[in-house]
Amino acid sequence: MRILVTGGAGFIGSRYVRAVLGGEYESAADALVTVLDAFTYAGRPENLEPYMADPRLRVVRGRVEDPVVVDEVMRGQDAVVHFAAESHVDRSITSGTEFTRTNVLGTQTLVEAAQRHGVGVLVHVSTDETYGSLPSGSADERYPLRPNSPYAASKAGSDLIALAHHRTHSLDVRVTRCSNNYGSHQFPEKLIPLAITNLLDGRRIPLYGDGLNIRDWLHVDDHCRGIQLVLERGRPGEIYNIGGGTELTNRDVTQLILRLCEESPDMIEYVADRKGHDRRYSLDWRKIRDELGYTPRQDFTTGLADTVRWYTDNRSWWEPLRRRDRADLTPLGY
Ligand code: NAD
Repeated sequence: MRILVTGGAGFIGSRYVRAVLGGEYESAADALVTVLDAFTYAGRPENLEPYMADPRLRVVRGRVEDPVVVDEVMRGQDAVVHFAAESHVDRSITSGTEFTRTNVLGTQTLVEAAQRHGVGVLVHVSTDETYGSLPSGSADERYPLRPNSPYAASKAGSDLIALAHHRTHSLDVRVTRCSNNYGSHQFPEKLIPLAITNLLDGRRIPLYGDGLNIRDWLHVDDHCRGIQLVLERGRPGEIYNIGGGTELTNRDVTQLILRLCEESPDMIEYVADRKGHDRRYSLDWRKIRDELGYTPRQDFTTGLADTVRWYTDNRSWWEPLRRRDRADLTPLGY
């Protein structure tokens, strides 16, 4: 099986590639993987170690919205898993154009090429943020799309474009919408790695507003397993929510991190709230559970402790990113 993985050098995409090439998914044991990645600030070649020299992996530097490179890499593929995106809400608030270009135009370019080359299946990886902020209850796959940030709006647009290609051209598109991921190799601008690396650097954790915004946390390994299930056994044209089952306030998450790092509560610094900050996300993920047998395996406290340990043991991965990108780092992002 030949799989094209877009954004395969980023946090989640690289975990997916390492799982495929590491033999974690039986059905993909013979897979040949092509990674298409623009290597933006978030795409790191070292995330693909120890497979960079593996003959089963081909890495192509290029942009998903570039029809020439997409046409070239699409040739001969059996499946596409589409992770490539601008993914940081705060950056989309500062400037949204890149989000529309990569997330919307990139998805359009990709599905058109998949259609032209007769690719068997395309899994489009999306987010619970497309449903917007929920005062109560949980969003199932029929819940209206009410994205609030430019990031979420660009993801909602990309979902609709991908699904339209199923309806109009019968391309086998499957959309996944997952909650907030955490784990190793996440760029230190999102809440959990930012909090951990700040503490490791002796700095405080900035917390937006009253810190009571609620997110559902999903370990990146569980997310990737859910994506693989959808690729193997999902139905064409369907949307699958992938949840983690751990809803916590941002304050709870930072307090857990403080405890794991043996730091005092004074290390939290409340800062002015993010513009348009969504209060609560919550996913109903019974469909993937009942149809495909998915359930998250990682308990949050254990997964978080492992993540703290990874950042503690891998300073050489994140220290250069913080130095190189410091001027560009937004204060927070979830
Ligand atoms: P990330 O920012 O860590 O990685 C994104 C990757 O895409 C990087 O390797 C980057 O170089 C690449 N990329 C960016 N623009 C590109 C372009 N124009 N062409 C080709 N490659 C490009 O993001 P992530 O956290 O790994 O997220 C992956 C996907 O999962 C995204 O589609 C995101 O919307 C979705 N998602 C993420 C989360 C989360 O909590 N991180 C939650 C829900 C959904």
